[in-house]
Amino acid sequence: MRVSRLMLVTLRDDPAEAEIPSHKLLLRAGYIRRVGSGIYAYLPLLWRVLQKISAIVREELNGTGALETLLPQLQPAELWQRSGRWAGYTAGEGIMFHLEDRQGRELGLGPTHEEVITALAGDLLRSYRQLPVNLYQIQTKFRDEIRPRFGLMRGREFIMKDAYSFHADEACLKQTYAAMDQAYRRIFSRCGLRAVAVEADSGAIGGSASQEFMVTAEAGEDLILASGDGRYAANQERAVSLPADAVPLPGGARAGGSGDALPTPAQSAIEALCSAHGFDPSQTVKVLLLLARFEDGCLQPLLVSLRGDQQLNEVKLANAVSARCSSEHGTLLEITPLTAEAAAKEGLEPIPFGFMGPHLEDAVLSGARSWQPRFLRLADATATALQSFVCGANSLDTHRVGASWGALCPAPESLDLRAAQPGDRCLHDPAQQLQASRGIEVGHIFQLGRKYSAALEATFTNEAGQDEPLWMGCYGIGVSRLAQAAVEQHHDANGICWPTAIAPYEVIVVIANVAEAPQRELGEQLYGAFQAAGIDVLLDDRSERAGVKFKDADLLGIPWRVVVGRGAADGQVELVQRASGERSDVPASAVLAQLQVHLERERAGLLSA
Ligand code: ATP
Ligand code: MG
Repeated sequence: MRVSRLMLVTLRDDPAEAEIPSHKLLLRAGYIRRVGSGIYAYLPLLWRVLQKISAIVREELNGTGALETLLPQLQPAELWQRSGRWAGYTAGEGIMFHLEDRQGRELGLGPTHEEVITALAGDLLRSYRQLPVNLYQIQTKFRDEIRPRFGLMRGREFIMKDAYSFHADEACLKQTYAAMDQAYRRIFSRCGLRAVAVEADSGAIGGSASQEFMVTAEAGEDLILASGDGRYAANQERAVSLPADAVPLPGGARAGGSGDALPTPAQSAIEALCSAHGFDPSQTVKVLLLLARFEDGCLQPLLVSLRGDQQLNEVKLANAVSARCSSEHGTLLEITPLTAEAAAKEGLEPIPFGFMGPHLEDAVLSGARSWQPRFLRLADATATALQSFVCGANSLDTHRVGASWGALCPAPESLDLRAAQPGDRCLHDPAQQLQASRGIEVGHIFQLGRKYSAALEATFTNEAGQDEPLWMGCYGIGVSRLAQAAVEQHHDANGICWPTAIAPYEVIVVIANVAEAPQRELGEQLYGAFQAAGIDVLLDDRSERAGVKFKDADLLGIPWRVVVGRGAADGQVELVQRASGERSDVPASAVLAQLQVHLERERAGLLSA
């Protein structure tokens, strides 16, 4: 391809809309253009990158025996109602774009395809003899993200590879899951990405085991917590750890009582309380009030107790609340803080926010108009483990010191609700500590089990002749996000440095001065020879100044540059490697052979050491 025909428009300055390096560079180098919030045009250069990534994905998945397919993006609401996900995906913070057709039928634009594929599998897969099957597609997905940002990282329309496997038993599901895990590792490595596998929360997709693949990068939205010995890594949403030991409360002998009242004027924050009285935060129990909203309209107040030095993990809380309430009230739509304003609006008597203890009575909810009249009480294990603690007294400007569970109130159900933190000791080996790094989630694999097949009645006849729901796995890769993640990991001050395996072109031939016939002729000749040798080559044949063309070549990030300049008359060119900046003068007659040696190695996509 000739750069003069590429409708290449590069920008010298960082566009105001972009915050992170990869987003700036993709805009500046003419790979993408913003069309609307979270909506991008993939320009021809990026489309080549996406196709190269897709080709690697196809090769590796086909290698596992998976079959490519293409499913509709317009999905009938009825399928999602049968799986129980319509409300969760369309109401509250739901992310599914949905619409009504001219007949008044409701449809959704596919954010994911479990429903469609499970219904098909139920139709087509009747016997254990047809199993296992693994189907995948590479397709545009639609999600009305709450905060679309960072360009292709979190779009509202993006390209995903999604795969779904069907099995006669769990052991077979685990085998395919392991094969997909391996295929994913090869895919990311071949794309030139440093990616790590971490334990993950299964989120709205559901199911049991799941693992995310994170491209490590400062700009990543996810926090990864990993042990130094490499044996444990998890998304913070999911991570578990040993909390720091609590500092025992002096005078613990009072344990067994409900504590003594302590005046604590205006000390509603743990920090203020502790600094005024010399307490350690780990000696306190803090109480959070929240409100859970469900599909059937139920509004359930939550009272969550945590040790004062711990932070709430909202994902763990949502999972715990769903597990306790969803069979009765349907999907959990959202959990919001229960504020003084909301309480007043609901008609409640004032609640002593900042001075609440876990013994706050349900009576405070008695005036509620639409809320459930009783708290769902949950506590983190760090709070229930305290023998004697400081907590709010449920009246303004007062705390209780030396309170204990039982005497004060029954200990609530004890769970893991705390956010693991960097520096925490690890469960598998307390000598290990969790270390934090940031990651971009490029893939996620799940063992779904039988959640969808049971809901959509997708059954098969097993060897014993009985009908049972299919076992399922599902596996996603964010193809367009991966392209940008590659830029996030591979760039420098001058622009992008694509890994060769996914670069839009492998080589750019730059004719320094097209007005000079020897340069023009040699440039054209090399361009033709490279093409004939099967190299993806760009020819910068523009009549721009050489400096402009070199700057653009750096910005575009093509792995190899062949400069045809003054040496052309003597048959000499310059070979420059984009990532290292290394340059050498090479006879034009030898440059193809040299490039072929480099490209041969780099196309395999093995990570350079
Ligand atoms: P996230 O937590 O980042 O929102 P997710 O858990 O919703 O991701 P999945 O439903 O597992 O993601 O989708 C599979 C893959 O699709 C993700 O691993 C990610 O790489 C990609 N992906 C998800 N949402 C987006 C988006 N809005 N824009 C681009 N890629 C996305
Ligand atoms: Mg998401």
